[in-house]
Amino acid sequence: MTPIATYTFTQQDDGTIRVVGGAAPYTLTRDAAAPDGWRCDCPGYRYRQSCKHAAFYAAPVMAKWARRKAALAVANARETHE
Ligand SMILES: [Zn+2]
Repeated sequence: MTPIATYTFTQQDDGTIRVVGGAAPYTLTRDAAAPDGWRCDCPGYRYRQSCKHAAFYAAPVMAKWARRKAALAVANARETHE
């Protein structure tokens, strides 16, 4: 089994993400109702509504958002105290 970290995730012109590196290429589609925020067309996702592709792609995005939120909190706190 290929480690997910070696897969490539490429944004397409239509906003979907092409996932290459596994047995077959898959496509992630933005979906607010999906647990990870992304829907995948791989068999695993069809079976249990989640898969390593969606989870892995969502993770760095979430980490970035958390960092941004933390930075904003610091900026807000500074504003309040000055
Ligand atoms: Zn998948």
